[in-house]
Amino acid sequence: EVPRGLPLRVEGLRKEFGGITAVDGASFEVEEGSLTGLIGPNGAGKSTTFNCITGVHEPTAGDVYFRGEEITGLQPHEVAQRGLVRTFQIARELDEMTVLENVMLAPGGQKGESIARSVVPGLRGGVVDQERDLREEAWETLEFFELDHLATEYAGNLSGGQRKLLELARALMTDPDVMLLDEPFAGVNPTLEEKLLDRIHDLREQGLTFLLVEHDMDLIMENCEHVVVMHQGRVLDEGPPAQIQDNEEVIEAYLGG
Ligand code: ADP
Ligand code: MG
Repeated sequence: EVPRGLPLRVEGLRKEFGGITAVDGASFEVEEGSLTGLIGPNGAGKSTTFNCITGVHEPTAGDVYFRGEEITGLQPHEVAQRGLVRTFQIARELDEMTVLENVMLAPGGQKGESIARSVVPGLRGGVVDQERDLREEAWETLEFFELDHLATEYAGNLSGGQRKLLELARALMTDPDVMLLDEPFAGVNPTLEEKLLDRIHDLREQGLTFLLVEHDMDLIMENCEHVVVMHQGRVLDEGPPAQIQDNEEVIEAYLGG
C-alpha cells in the first residue's frame, strides 16, 4: 500500500449559526490507523465539527483535508465516496424495513446504485450478479456485527444497542477508510458496548481510522492513543490520554462546564 497522506486534517474550522459561533477556529489532525478521541463538554462544538467535516454543514471558514485533498464544502455523498463517513441515526422510515434491507440500502453504499448504473445494457445476468454481490456483502457485514440472526427483523424492533450496531453496519457498507463516530455507545448496555468496541478494534486492524466523540472518559483513556479536547468551539489541548488527563485547563473545562 502506498501511503496517501493524513486521513484527516482540519484547519481553522469555523461554523456560525446566526449569532452563535459553534466552532471557533478548530485545528487538529487524525493519524493513520489511529483511534482518536474528540472530547469536550456539552456544546463544545464536537457534533458541528463532524457535520462540517462530512458535508452536512458548510463551514463558515476553514479547511478540511482528506488524504491531502481539500474536501471543504463537498456534499455528504461526495465525502462518503472518498471514504470518509460518519454514522447517522436510522431514520424513522427505515424502521419499517428489515435489518438486511437497511444494510443493503445503506447511504453512499449507493453501491447498489452505482452498480446498477455500471451495468452494460444488454449484458445479461449483470444486474443479477451485482445484486447477489451486494446481498452477500450485506450478510457478511451483519455476521461481523452478530446481527445476522436479526436479518428479517424490522429495524424498529431493535434495542437501542442493536440499533447502534446497525448504524455502524450501514456506515461500513460504504467501504470507508475513515469513520467518524458521534457517541456510538449512548444508550448501549455494557455487553453490547464491549462488542462494539471489539468490532472497532477489529476494523482498525484492517486499516481503518476512527475519530470518536465520547463522554465516558475511562473509555477514551483506555481505547484512544490520541485525544483532542474541544471547549467553546476551540481545541483546548491534544495529546496522549495521560497528558490530557493531567491538564488543569481540561479538568476546569469539564467541571466548569
Ligand atoms: P457538542 O456536540 O460538543 O455538544 P454541538 O456542536 O452540538 O456541541 O453544539 C455547539 C453549539 O452550537 C451549541 O451552542 C449548539 O446549541 C449550537 N448549534 C449546534 N447546531 C446548531 C444549529 N443547527 N443551529 C443553531 N445552533 C446550533
Ligand atoms: Mg454532540
